[in-house]
Amino acid sequence: MAFLKFEHVGKTYPNGFEAVKDFNLEVEKGDFIVFVGPSGCGKTTTLRMFAGLEEITTGTISIDDNVINDLEPKDRNIAMVFQNYALYPHMTVKDNMTYGLKFRKVPKEEINERVLETSKILGFDEDYLKRRPGQLSGGQKQRVALGRAIVRRPQVFLMDEPLSNLDAKLRIQMRSEITKIHREVNATTIYVTHDQTEAMTMATKIVVMNNGYIQQIDIPDIIYDYPENMFVAGFIGAPAMNFIDAKLENGYIIFANDKKIKLPSEDLKYYEEYEGKEVVFGIRPEDCYINKEDIKSGLIEEFKGHIENIELLGFETIHYLNDGVNKVICKIPHKSFYKLDDEGDFYFDMSRYSLFDKETTSRIKRER
Ligand code: ATP
Repeated sequence: MAFLKFEHVGKTYPNGFEAVKDFNLEVEKGDFIVFVGPSGCGKTTTLRMFAGLEEITTGTISIDDNVINDLEPKDRNIAMVFQNYALYPHMTVKDNMTYGLKFRKVPKEEINERVLETSKILGFDEDYLKRRPGQLSGGQKQRVALGRAIVRRPQVFLMDEPLSNLDAKLRIQMRSEITKIHREVNATTIYVTHDQTEAMTMATKIVVMNNGYIQQIDIPDIIYDYPENMFVAGFIGAPAMNFIDAKLENGYIIFANDKKIKLPSEDLKYYEEYEGKEVVFGIRPEDCYINKEDIKSGLIEEFKGHIENIELLGFETIHYLNDGVNKVICKIPHKSFYKLDDEGDFYFDMSRYSLFDKETTSRIKRER
């Protein structure tokens, strides 16, 4: 029995807009679930329905097999962490953390015990607890907001883009801090973000959404290696996966300029019904190489292209290639011996490609 269940959940706003459609998800205790997708895909609406801040139009949400659709937010035993921290400016850190507990008439000794325990997890000392939000940086404020959620000891943590207001460096730091806290507290968490790096690094399970629909639910590795469709393939990974329109013929895929790429023979059994049909070939920029020897699988296909642009990031190099018809981005984890306007010889690792049905944009199955 799953701990949390969304069954056929849908949301239609009063103006008739359908923001979430047939949302189904099962969450186990201790999971860190990340809802990820572009702006407007319905992530926040789904989270707010769980929190009780938004009415559920269709379907049911349950915790431990009890349907919570009609429960007041305060009766759901959840704690939310928002992007804007939502701290009371006139209260100290400690009061901000304990306000909700006092309101619920939790005994004083227990409050102090919980504050002590939470302060240990977050590294707050006595002096810190006496400060007011105005004396804290963005990252520190967000830590207090996390602390306020932790002292509540809720059944479920809900976090809506909690790192969006922080600068890049602090985001990375807080990202690993939240993951660490999750490991220590082992609380079931639903986390909303549009940042695919946060999704990949924090989640035990990712839910990719687009246009109100779930596109794929799985662990980060599977989402990355076996995206179910072109939307997921394009959304997860940066730079995005390269897509090239092609035709499948006799074990080869053929690009519009007649360039042929040989498919690994053991994969051909999956593609029989696609013989002669239009497909989309997908290869991630990091699965393109400049040194053949670096491809451990031994499944290598060449791609020659003019280097239209090159980005040197110190620790990696991104090449923008054009063979006259097809464009491919190639990312290598080191410096390149190529420079702008060179003609380059690049190599695809053919143990790592994806193939999609051009019409439906779905992945054509290949065993995991
Ligand atoms: P973001 O990352 O921008 O917050 P999101 O994926 O969280 O996006 P939601 O906030 O869930 O998206 O919104 C989903 C869709 O529902 C959007 O198209 C939004 O414009 C629409 N929407 C949100 N609130 C309302 C409302 N009260 N009335 C009508 N439409 C709404």
